[in-house]
Amino acid sequence: MIELYGDCASDPPLGATARTLATLRADDVVYGLGVLALERRAKTLGLAVRDSAAHAALATALARLEARVELVQVADAWPTVLAARSVARADELVLAAERARGAFGHQYLTIAGAVATPAVRAADPLATVVELVAGAGGALVEDWVAVAGGAPAGRLVERTTQARELGPLVLILPAGHQIVRRLRTPLADWLLRAASACEGCRVCSDACPQPLAPHEIVWTLSTLRDDGVELLRALACTGCGLCDAMCPSTLSPRALVVDVRDRLVHGNVKGHANGSVKGHLNANAAGLDLALLTLRLGLAPYDRPVDVSLR
Ligand code: SF4
Ligand code: SF4
Repeated sequence: MIELYGDCASDPPLGATARTLATLRADDVVYGLGVLALERRAKTLGLAVRDSAAHAALATALARLEARVELVQVADAWPTVLAARSVARADELVLAAERARGAFGHQYLTIAGAVATPAVRAADPLATVVELVAGAGGALVEDWVAVAGGAPAGRLVERTTQARELGPLVLILPAGHQIVRRLRTPLADWLLRAASACEGCRVCSDACPQPLAPHEIVWTLSTLRDDGVELLRALACTGCGLCDAMCPSTLSPRALVVDVRDRLVHGNVKGHANGSVKGHLNANAAGLDLALLTLRLGLAPYDRPVDVSLR
C-alpha cells in the first residue's frame, strides 16, 4: 500500500493549481515528495495525476531523478480519493521543496470565475483577495464574492482575506450565483428543507467516497428521531461536497454532516480517522465527471483558458 501520495489530481472545477505545478514544476513536486517522505517516515510513495501534460512532465522528472514513485493516472472526476496513510497536495509538495532549499514560500493558487483573466499565480502569502482579483485583470461584476476552495467544497471569505488562508483555489462569483446563495443559507434552513424534502433516496450515501452514510445523518437531524445512527461516523467526512452535487432535492447533506463533524472535533471526540487517511473507502463511489459537475454548479460560463505564467 502507498504510504504517502502526492496529489496532483484534485483540482476542483475551474481550479488549475495542481496540474500547473505538476506540469511546470515537476522536479520540485518530486523533490518535495521526497522531503515529506523523510518527515513522515513514508517508504512507499505515489503521485496521482489526471492531466496528460502533467503526467508526461512527472514521468520525465521521475526518470531524471531516478525516484521510486508510483505514478497513477486517475479519472477526470471529483473528488479524487486516495487510499494512503498520508496525502499532500501539489502546492504543499512545491512548498516543501522550496523550504528544503531555504527559499521563500509562495502561495500557489488559481484565481478564477468572474475575473477578466483566470490565472495560476505564485502569490505573496500576505496578498489580499482584492489584490489577487486586480492581478487577474479585475472582477467582471461589481458585487463579487470570494469562495476559498471553489465548489463544491469551498467557503465564503472576506475580500481582505490573505492568500495564505485561501488554499489552492479562490473562485470569484456574483453575489447572486447559486453557489454563493447556497453557502449563505443558514444551517437551520438546511434542516427545515431536509425535513420536508429529503426523499431518503440514499443517492448522497451511494456517492459518498467515505465510510459514512450522509442520508442517515440528514434523517436523524431533520426528524430528531434516535434510530441508533452512529453520528461519530461524521468524523470521516472530508467536506468534498459530492453529496450536495448529487442530491436530487438540492439539499445540503454536506452542511449537516460537516456541522456534526466540526462539533465532534471541537468537543475533542475521537472516532474514525478524519483527513486524508482512509482505511475503508466506499468502493462503489467513483466521483462525478468534472465536466458534468462544472455544468451542475453553474460554472460553465466561467470555464475559460487559464494564464499559467506563475508570476
Ligand atoms: S440525496 Fe438528498 S434527498 Fe436523497 S437521501 Fe440524500 S439528502 Fe435525502
Ligand atoms: S461532503 Fe462528506 S458526507 Fe458529503 S460526500 Fe463528501 S465526505 Fe461524504
